[in-house]
Amino acid sequence: MGSPSRRPARPIRSGHYPAKELCSQCGLCDTHYVAQVKEACAFLNQQLTALEEQTHGRSREKDSVPLSRTVQSGSPTAAVSDTDYFGIYEEMFTARKRDPIQGAQWTGIVSSIGMKALTTGLVEGVVCVQADAQDRFKPQPILARSPEEVLAARVNKPTLSPNLSVLEQVEQSGLKRLLVIGVGCQIQALRAVEKRLGLEKLYVLGTPCVDNVSRAGLQKFLETTSRSPETVVHYEFMQDFRVHFKHEDGSVEKVPFFGLNTKQLKDVFAPSCLSCFDYVNALADLVVGYMGSPLGWQWLVVRNGRGRELLDLVWEELETQPVISKGSRQAAVQQGIQAYDQAMTLPMWLAQLMGAVIERFGPQGLEYARFSIDSHFTRNYLYVRRHYPEKLEKHVPPFAQRIVAQYQLPKS
Ligand code: FAD
Ligand code: SF4
Repeated sequence: MGSPSRRPARPIRSGHYPAKELCSQCGLCDTHYVAQVKEACAFLNQQLTALEEQTHGRSREKDSVPLSRTVQSGSPTAAVSDTDYFGIYEEMFTARKRDPIQGAQWTGIVSSIGMKALTTGLVEGVVCVQADAQDRFKPQPILARSPEEVLAARVNKPTLSPNLSVLEQVEQSGLKRLLVIGVGCQIQALRAVEKRLGLEKLYVLGTPCVDNVSRAGLQKFLETTSRSPETVVHYEFMQDFRVHFKHEDGSVEKVPFFGLNTKQLKDVFAPSCLSCFDYVNALADLVVGYMGSPLGWQWLVVRNGRGRELLDLVWEELETQPVISKGSRQAAVQQGIQAYDQAMTLPMWLAQLMGAVIERFGPQGLEYARFSIDSHFTRNYLYVRRHYPEKLEKHVPPFAQRIVAQYQLPKS
């Protein structure tokens, strides 16, 4: 009680968000690092290639075929590599905890690594996100100094979270070894100011992230989609092409993607997320998600040696399998582009039927991850082209352009 780690992050300063409506509230501008915003903000200065080189010693662009030799709009033969999709990596696994953490989003691999990093002394503090005492979906970023505080941060707060607002606390605490848990836009800004933080060692444990929302947007999503919005404890867009809502009484409600009310939901997602091309958190040392693994399993992407150190902390607690890749995504992605653009919503019985068929015969494992990346990148490319045409060329990284170029997009 009363320790520096429990101090709430500074109140948000209004009017200091140069990315304006594209701001993802990553928290950087709630600190004095706002002075670096023009260079650091993921939405003002897309610099993934340079930051990949800084972080991993190599970038996707050096590992991939040059853009001019690959891009042919609508060409299914465009050369797109796994590095284009998943970023720089050394290894990938499918895994789950043998003894899952109750109340975690999946099996709690992220929380376990955070706790172990503190108890083994690998780091002295962990930046993570607890929930507001009154509202389970409202994020409260903290600098955790004990495993109990990390455990209390388990489960997603599926709203924009100002994680970097605790950077000034990190500085004031004088700690030298830090673990930051966060999503792509937070980590891009963090990497851009990393050298100014005075740390001896920074570890970054990332999660993939897509379609995040403001707190008001989340309310609209829950009210539009769930049968009982007020009892939802957590939800996830799953690999079986359904949204799974877990309710307070433990029941799980499943709504097929194809039955979502696209017309109402089009403006729910934050503009930052509709213009993001860092789904897989390319600048983290280790990424823990689910989308490249079969249902019930987590997906681990080790990007570098620091990521391997993090994974080693919990390796003995995990059941693991090699990653798999089955089926073909491209026809489903191409059909989805038109359907989303025309805001088509299917009757629920047909949506259920389509969900069941695609689950059985559709893409699985890494191919499901490619399906999800393709669907979001094509949608986001169209969003940027329509709303921020002057930003298009610089803001869409070359690997994302190669991915998008595999599909026929509407002309306007
Ligand atoms: P837990 O042990 O439950 O720990 C969860 C961690 O997430 C906590 O340490 C907490 O600090 C952190 N956290 C919670 N809310 C936020 C937030 N808003 N911003 C930053 N950090 C937060 N994986 C995919 O494969 N595909 C996706 O599309 C995808 N979308 C995601 C969207 C969001 C907003 C978030 C936060 C995560 C997303 N993930 C996605 C990751 C996935 O849902 C799980 O978080 C991940 O697999 C870890 O599960 P776990 O049980 O190990 O986590
Ligand atoms: Fe500042 Fe982060 Fe918003 Fe960019 S996204 S304007 S860095 S708070």
